[in-house]
Amino acid sequence: MSDTIFGKIARGEIEADLIYEDDDVVAFQDISPQAPTHVLVIPRKPIATLNDALPEDAELIGRLVLTAAKIAKQMGIAEDGYRTVINCNAGAGQTVFHLHLHVLGGRPLQWPPG
Ligand code: AMP
Repeated sequence: MSDTIFGKIARGEIEADLIYEDDDVVAFQDISPQAPTHVLVIPRKPIATLNDALPEDAELIGRLVLTAAKIAKQMGIAEDGYRTVINCNAGAGQTVFHLHLHVLGGRPLQWPPG
């Protein structure tokens, strides 16, 4: 896949407001937050979309989700509730083609989403 801004953030080549990082996963504040809490959780591995995830990525994707839950607890939104979202491809609103999981909370969230 071609490089993206999230690839550059994962490699530390451009700045982001980091919340968490380890060898495989990075989390940072969304630059255009859609809720009082809006964090993005990404793998360091450049996977373009959820469609491109392989069976061997199962543990990594599980870690993205568990990292989201840990961040929600740290940010105090776990009890009230929060939403995790992976937009897959343009029809779902994906604009950055490096897999990422949105963590949104801190306000009531409507369902169904737009
Ligand atoms: P999506 O529409 O699911 O691809 O989400 C991409 C998200 O990345 C949007 O919510 C953007 O606001 C966010 N975003 C784009 N560039 C940056 C950046 N440099 N730092 C943090 N978030 C960004």
